[in-house]
Amino acid sequence: MSVAVNERDTKMSNCARLSATKRVAALKAGAPCAAQEVTDIGYADDVFTRETMKTYLSKETYKKLLKTIDGGQPLDETIAGEVAHAMRHWAQDRGATHYTHWFLPLTGGTAEKHDAFLEIKDGQPVQAFSGKNLIVGEPDASSFPSGGIRSTFEARGYTAWDPTSPAFIKRHGNGATLCIPTAFCAYTGEALDRKTPLLRSMQVLSSAAKRLMKCFGKDEEKVAITLGPEQEYFLIDKNFYLARPDLVLTGRTLFGAPSAKHQQLEDHYFGSIKSRILNFMNEVEKELWTLGIPAKTRHNEVAPAQFELAPMFEELNLSCDHNMLVMEVLRQVADRNGLVCLLHEKPFAGINGSGKHNNWSVSYGDTNLLNPGNDPHQNAIFLTTLCAVIEAVDKHADLLRASVASAGNDHRLGANEAPPAVISIYLGDQLADVIAQLEKGAPKSSKHAGTMKIGVDTLPPLPKDATDRNRTSPFAFTGNKFEFRAPGSSASCAGPNVVLNTVVAEAMNRIADELEAAGVVGKVEPGKHTPAFHNALQKILQNIVKTHKRILFNGDGYKSDWLTEAAKRGLPNAATTPEALKAFTKKENVAVFEKAGVFSARELESRYEIAIEDYTTKVMIEGNCALDMARTMIAPVVKAEYRETMDAYVKAREGGIASGTTILHDDIVKLGAGLDAVKLRCSELEAGVAKRDPAAVIAAMTALRTNVDALEGMVADDKWPLPKYREMLFLY
Ligand code: ADP
Ligand code: MG
Repeated sequence: MSVAVNERDTKMSNCARLSATKRVAALKAGAPCAAQEVTDIGYADDVFTRETMKTYLSKETYKKLLKTIDGGQPLDETIAGEVAHAMRHWAQDRGATHYTHWFLPLTGGTAEKHDAFLEIKDGQPVQAFSGKNLIVGEPDASSFPSGGIRSTFEARGYTAWDPTSPAFIKRHGNGATLCIPTAFCAYTGEALDRKTPLLRSMQVLSSAAKRLMKCFGKDEEKVAITLGPEQEYFLIDKNFYLARPDLVLTGRTLFGAPSAKHQQLEDHYFGSIKSRILNFMNEVEKELWTLGIPAKTRHNEVAPAQFELAPMFEELNLSCDHNMLVMEVLRQVADRNGLVCLLHEKPFAGINGSGKHNNWSVSYGDTNLLNPGNDPHQNAIFLTTLCAVIEAVDKHADLLRASVASAGNDHRLGANEAPPAVISIYLGDQLADVIAQLEKGAPKSSKHAGTMKIGVDTLPPLPKDATDRNRTSPFAFTGNKFEFRAPGSSASCAGPNVVLNTVVAEAMNRIADELEAAGVVGKVEPGKHTPAFHNALQKILQNIVKTHKRILFNGDGYKSDWLTEAAKRGLPNAATTPEALKAFTKKENVAVFEKAGVFSARELESRYEIAIEDYTTKVMIEGNCALDMARTMIAPVVKAEYRETMDAYVKAREGGIASGTTILHDDIVKLGAGLDAVKLRCSELEAGVAKRDPAAVIAAMTALRTNVDALEGMVADDKWPLPKYREMLFLY
C-alpha cells in the first residue's frame, strides 16, 4: 500500500529533496521553488526557519504567523491547519515519520512523546498532521513532577505550541522526528514546566522596558531579552565511566583520591585540543548548526578533561531551548565516540566544577540597553537600566541564589573556583567610578582606557577595554551585558532568567512609577529632555545607588575576607540548597512573582516542593550508591589485601623470618583500621539514609570518602576496583 500524497506534496518534496548544492544551483537558475539559503555547513537545515516557512506557507499565513512570532500577538488559530500541513511536508521531505510536542517538564530535562503522521482513512493509510495536533497536545501528565498542583488521578496535562521557538527535526539512528516546542500546563492552566514562567517573565520585562522607554520619550519598539549561555562540561572515556557506578547513577564520583597531577600547572585551560576531542567537537558543532544553534566558541577549560562550548547569543526563550538541545547533543555525540559527557556541576572533587555562564541583556529596537557607549556617564538610558539591575539584584539576591540551587551546584559554589554563594555585582573600574560620581551628584566624566603598550617594537599598541575582567564575581558586568556565573552546568537556563527578568522588571516599573509621579515624562525630541526630567531621574538613580551600593563589589570574590565583609554588609549567604530555596517561601518574595503574574502562590509553592524533593532524592541516591560501593566493591578488596598481608605475616613468623614483618604488621594495622572506619561510616550513612536526612547523609558520605580515598593509596593498584582520577582525567 502506498501512502497517499497529492500533487502539491510531490512538487514540494522534489524541491526540498534536492541536495544542498543542487538547491543553490536551482536558486541561481531561478527555479520556481524558493529553496532556503544553504551554506555548506547546512546551517539550520533541520529547522522550520522563516525561509522554509516562506517556501511552504502562503504569503498571508506567513504574515499572520510573523505577527505572533515577532509582534507578540495571540496566535490566529485559523492558520494552524495550513501551518501544520506545511510543517509535516517539510519534515517528511527531510525524512521525518513522527512528530512530538517537545517540552521542558520540572524534571529538569526535556520530554517528548512521539506520534506517527499516520492515519487510516476509509481503510487506507494516509499521512496527516492537523492544526489541532500542532496547537495542543494532551500527554498523560501524571508521572511528571507537579509538586501537588495536580493529583495523580487527574492525569490531564496540556502542551501548547510555542510559535516563538521554531520547530526542528531530531535525528536518531535510522529515523527522524519533527519536534514542536511547547509549553506544558495542567488542566487548571497552572504551569507544569520551565518554559511557561519564562515566557511570562519575558512578557513582564518587555512591558516594563517599554514603559520605561516611554518615560524617556521613546516610540514603542520590540524588546528583546538576549541570552548567550556558555556551557562547561567534562569528557571521559566510556570504559572508565561504565566501571564507576557512582558516575552512572549520580553523575559524580563519590570516591577517588586526587591525582598527583591535576590542574596545578594550569596547562589545560585554552591548551591545544586533542584530536579525539576535536573530532568530537566538530561532530557536535555540525549537529548543532543543522539545528540552527549558533555554536561559536570551543576550548579546553581549567580542569583536566574539562571543556566549554559557547553559542552566539539569541533571544532568551530560543536560547534556553537551544541550550537543552546542546546538552543532549553533547551527550549523544560523546556516546557515539566512545566518550561520556559529564554535565554534573562537580564530577570530580578537588578540581574545578562546571557552570553555565548566563550572559544576559535587554535590547529595545536596535539598542542594547546595557551598552554603555563611549561615555556611560552621559548615557541616561544605560545608567537607568544599570541602576534597575543593581536595585533588582540587591533586593532579590536571595531569589537569584535560590534559582541556581541544586544538589550538584552546592559542591561548586564557593569551592574556590566558582563564585561564592553570596551574590554581588562586579561593575569594573569605569562603571564603578561613574556610579560613585552618581551617588554624589551628576556624573561628569567616564574613565577612558586608551591603549596598551606590550613592549615589543614590532607589535602595534592595542586598544584597551575600559575595564579589566573579574572571574570571581557571581554577577559581572561584561561590556554590554551581565554575566551571571552561578548557574550550574546541568541546569536549564530558564530558572535564573525567570527570576532575573521578574526582578529587573519590578525595578524598571518602580523607576517608571517615580518618573510618572514626578510629572516629567512625555514625548520629546531625542536629547531634548527638560531639566526637570533630568533632575528627577538623577534623584531616582542617586537614591538607588545610595540604597543598594552594598551589592557592588569589585574585589576578589574567592577570598575569605569577602565573606566576612559581605556578612557585615548584610548580604545573604545561603551555603546549601535547602537554605537557599527558603527564599521561594518568603511572603514578600511570593508577592513579587504574584504581582508580576509570573507565578501564582501555588505554582511557586509547588516548585519549591519539587526542588526540595529533587535535592533530597539526589542526596539519598548518592548515599545509597556510596554505601553499596563501599560495602560491595571497596571493603572486599581491602579485606583481600588484609588477608593476603596477614598470610604473609603469619607465614614469615612461622618460618622464623623477621625481615619485612614490621612493615607487614603496620600495613595490617592500617588496613584493619581502615576497614573499621569504613564499617563505622557506613553505619552512620545508613542511619542518615534511613532518616532521609540530607545533612547527615552528606556528612557521613564525606567522612566515608576520606577513609576510602586513604585506602586507595594502600591497596595494590591492579586490585583497586574503580578507575582512578589519574586515569579518568588524563587517559582520553
Ligand atoms: P567570555 O569571554 O566571557 O567567554 P564572550 O565575549 O565570548 O565572553 O561572550 C560570551 C557570551 O556572551 C556569548 O555567548 C555571546 O554571544 C554572549 N553575548 C554577547 N553579547 C550579548 C548580549 N548583548 N546579550 C546576551 N549575550 C551576549
Ligand atoms: Mg564568560
